[in-house]
Amino acid sequence: MRASLPQANAPCWCGSGRKFKRCHKGAYEPLRPGTVSPQRTVPPGIRAPAYAATGRVERWDEPRVKPPEVIARMREAGRAAAEVLAEVGAAVAPGITTDELDALTHEACIARGGYPSPLNYRGFPKSVCTSVNEVICHGIPDDRALLDGDIVNLDVTIFLGGVHGDTNATFPVGVIDPESRRLLRVTKECLERGIAAVRPGRPISDIGRAIEDHATAAGFGVVHDFVGHGLGEQFHTDLQIPHYFEPSARTVMEPGMVFTVEPMISVGDARVRMWNDGWTAVTADGSRTAQYEHTLLVTDDGVEVLTAPPAS
Ligand SMILES: [Zn+2]
Repeated sequence: MRASLPQANAPCWCGSGRKFKRCHKGAYEPLRPGTVSPQRTVPPGIRAPAYAATGRVERWDEPRVKPPEVIARMREAGRAAAEVLAEVGAAVAPGITTDELDALTHEACIARGGYPSPLNYRGFPKSVCTSVNEVICHGIPDDRALLDGDIVNLDVTIFLGGVHGDTNATFPVGVIDPESRRLLRVTKECLERGIAAVRPGRPISDIGRAIEDHATAAGFGVVHDFVGHGLGEQFHTDLQIPHYFEPSARTVMEPGMVFTVEPMISVGDARVRMWNDGWTAVTADGSRTAQYEHTLLVTDDGVEVLTAPPAS
């Protein structure tokens, strides 16, 4: 990524005619932690998950195959999550801070009668994850204003009707460089290939194989440290969905299973480094990384995307 960018005094890739150092260079400086505003509150009328009060997540046995009544509620939560992602994504522009995107997400969840699932999950301080440039996932919204040339992932999860709907997408901020555009396109294609591999009777490992094949063909890396997950009445269940070929992922997909597929793809090395905040995961080499996610239901003959974008 960095190697493919112009020299400081060379013309910027954006065609402005200005030197790179006077134009888009700011978006390629290493990201630094900003100031995080106080945790937002949720009105008493909103049903909150058990961890909202304590930050502690207690797991219980939850069936991987959901009864129809739970699936009906997950459809609603998935639709709401997709609406929130589209609404907040439309606000992405140079100059807006990730804290402002957090406020928008928080209000958009409440407006739908839902609780923003990330809020206080294992103590996470905010209502959405905002992952900029080299941040792989779990970036904490702060006072940094987005720069023209950045890319930002918004990971939205809503707790609505007692179940979670989880979806994310990476958005360009203003004009982005050609390699970043390719990264976003290929990562979205990786999600689509992963979804196409969801079929009853097939092992979970089919999904990661499809994703890894496509990313590798594009010369990109697949993050191994974070995986897709089962969900339902809990934000995360025991089911894991690797985004690379993992032969031991032999669990066979069954109609009624619900899980996320959320590939994280990097321009360079996909190895992870953690910030001291305990949440922010960045690429160890500083290369850019993107992610797209849907919540999926295995059906009798394939897959239903529960977080499909709202028709525009
Ligand atoms: Zn430029």
